[in-house]
Amino acid sequence: MELAAARTIERAAELQERGNVASYIPELAKVDPQKAGIAITLANGATISAGDCDEQSTIQSVSKVFTLALALGTVGDRLWNRVGREPSGSAFDSILQLEHENGIPRNPFVNAGALVVTDSILSNYQPKEALAEILSFVRALADDETIHIDKAVAQSETETGHRNRALAHYLASYGNFNNQVDHTLGVYFHQCALSMSCVQLSRAGRFLAFGGAIGAGEARIVSHRRAKRIAAIMITCGHYDGSGDFAYRVGVPAKSGVSGMILAVVPNVASIAVWSPGLNKNGNSLIGTQMLEQVIRELDWSIF
Ligand code: GLU
Repeated sequence: MELAAARTIERAAELQERGNVASYIPELAKVDPQKAGIAITLANGATISAGDCDEQSTIQSVSKVFTLALALGTVGDRLWNRVGREPSGSAFDSILQLEHENGIPRNPFVNAGALVVTDSILSNYQPKEALAEILSFVRALADDETIHIDKAVAQSETETGHRNRALAHYLASYGNFNNQVDHTLGVYFHQCALSMSCVQLSRAGRFLAFGGAIGAGEARIVSHRRAKRIAAIMITCGHYDGSGDFAYRVGVPAKSGVSGMILAVVPNVASIAVWSPGLNKNGNSLIGTQMLEQVIRELDWSIF
């Protein structure tokens, strides 16, 4: 497996086409598109890693799997009255469907849906407490108290996040918002700026690979059923309108972020984090997808 991870990084380095780093969040535009890292955490807790696997990046939309788990823990299935579970077939920050579907976002991973999820967590807390809750959840999952929020990236998105602001106000106009729009947006921008390395992210994602527990024989963080259901939404919606292509090429549940991070889970086998900042046309990591495609093919880990 060490060999498979190392080979994946070697091949990634040879690829000329790197994709484009996200520039709509100015702080993300500064990241070097040559970076590439991978980390694989197994059921026994061992982590195998290669490349820029210890370098920090914000996780952006990968944070949406953690907030979804938290929100389901807080409000349970009532969450599904406010957000759907269907693939959107449109861009991550699209507003179009919201009008047709009366302010109910298609799924928790498009931005509108993730804003609703964060809004539901916030209903029980002040913004600072909600953020502390999200941070301590992720730290506990990864068993790593050093995980933090990149304030510069959060600030950068706060200054330029007009599209998310528009989505949030639009949701509020349909009555699908419980808190002050600025409060929910503030928590959302900061959760997206959670900063992690591939090693930390692969460890934080273990509970989704191992039926809600952080490893074989460990206590459950969420129920087995809930972990399976979150993974189901990852495979159908985790890569926005590129989700079908990702399932076809890679074949495991995964969630991407515009920083070029992807968290993938191989049920009962491993959680994998890859990072490479250049994105494809759907806003998913170009090289990250190729790395996952290669390593999962080599290890024969597709769920299909
Ligand atoms: N913070 C980003 C946004 O809301 C996350 C999008 C993503 O990673 O797909 O635009």
